[in-house]
Amino acid sequence: MSDAPNILVIYTGGTIGMVEDPESKTLFPFDFEHLSGQIPELNKLDVNITTVTTHQPVDSSNMSPSLWRELVAIVSANYAMYDGFVILHGSDTMAYTASALSFLLENLAKPVILTGSQLPIGVIRTDGKENFITSVEIASAKNEFGDPMVPEVCVYFEYKLYRGNRTYKQSAEHFEAFASPNYPTLAEAGVHIRYFPNAIMGLSTEPLVTHQVLDERIGILFLFPGIGIDLVQSVLDNPNLKATILYTFGAGNAPSAPWFLRQVQQAVANDKILVNVTQCMSGTVNQSLYATGRELEKLGVISGADMTMEAALTKLMYLLGHGFEREEVKHYFGQSLRGELTEL
Ligand code: ASP
Repeated sequence: MSDAPNILVIYTGGTIGMVEDPESKTLFPFDFEHLSGQIPELNKLDVNITTVTTHQPVDSSNMSPSLWRELVAIVSANYAMYDGFVILHGSDTMAYTASALSFLLENLAKPVILTGSQLPIGVIRTDGKENFITSVEIASAKNEFGDPMVPEVCVYFEYKLYRGNRTYKQSAEHFEAFASPNYPTLAEAGVHIRYFPNAIMGLSTEPLVTHQVLDERIGILFLFPGIGIDLVQSVLDNPNLKATILYTFGAGNAPSAPWFLRQVQQAVANDKILVNVTQCMSGTVNQSLYATGRELEKLGVISGADMTMEAALTKLMYLLGHGFEREEVKHYFGQSLRGELTEL
């Protein structure tokens, strides 16, 4: 290997790794051993690229905590040998994986860039090549002190680099598939790649700590006008759930009907951890703004602040995985552990 940066590319599945059979027009995954055959431009980059595939590449609708653990294990086993990591991933659940990895890789001091594409790499109008090539460049980029430019888990898509745990998938159609409404972009690729250091996480000086335990006993109760007691009860009373996200309106508001509040009260009394995340894509939960939100606060519902659903869900899995109970979850939920929320 030369002195050029060493980048490990991890393929997990998804559209980006597909090519089209010219005759049948069906998509099939290409052999990652022959990556530069698909993207000859990679040969022009002064980077040593090694590729590895997870044991079973999936459409990301089949992504799971066990696959997140596999990714953590791969990053951890190769951490000392590589300058950065690029994870090729289906876009559908990329924001969940990015959020989960941000919690599971504590004290991360190297770039972990997730990217994918809306069109397969083997299709003429693919967005995959640019996404991939720029992700490799970003994963290799160093500042004037020789430190990585972006030592955090990111999503790169369509000329923009985002903090991974601030993203959600916003479009099934446009190449600009992701958005991060509550946090600025970390970099933008035009003629040059422009980094925004004020938005980028500082370099951790502590050794990497990896986590593997996630507790999946979490429910999501999506509120809507007309929601009935049966549905609410079936989620809040479910003995297999330790925590539930109330997916609320606006600034964290929920119905104030006595039956609803009684259900919430009972769930809290039964040691369920309830968290308030807004259905709004931007802005924050503020449980003291309206009477309807204040009721939830009084009953012991924990505010999810301006976290995305994806970040709140994976953060809960991570905190419950530590065996934390209500008060500890509340304590850490209000804090930014990996830049996933804006502390007031
Ligand atoms: N369904 C695909 C997936 O998420 C879409 C994509 O690759 O972007 O794996």
